[in-house]
Amino acid sequence: MYLIDHIDELISTELADLDDPKSKRLYDIVIKNIIHGPCGHFNPACVCMVEGKCSKEFPKAFSTQTDTNIDGYPRYMRRNNGRHFIKEVNVTDQNNIKSKI
Ligand SMILES: [Zn+2]
Repeated sequence: MYLIDHIDELISTELADLDDPKSKRLYDIVIKNIIHGPCGHFNPACVCMVEGKCSKEFPKAFSTQTDTNIDGYPRYMRRNNGRHFIKEVNVTDQNNIKSKI
C-alpha cells in the first residue's frame, strides 16, 4: 500500500460537518487558526502574494480524490460539498475585506 492511500486517513482539507455535534470544536479551531487568506484580488497586499498570485496556490481546486502533483506533493481531496464560511479581515482602517472560503 502506498503513502497516498493513507493520506485521507490522516489529513483532511475539508471543513467539518456542523450538523455533527462532535465536529463543532474542530470546526471552530480550523476556522480560527488554519484557514489561509484572504489573498488574491480580495487582498493583493497579503504576504503570500507574488507577482499578483498567491504563492501557495490558494484557493485550491476542488478534487474528489487525493493525488500528487508532478513533484510528489499531495493535492488533497477537497470535495465541493457546499461547506464554507465567511472570513473577515481588516486590512486597513477603511476597508473591511470579506472572503468566502
Ligand atoms: Zn494566498
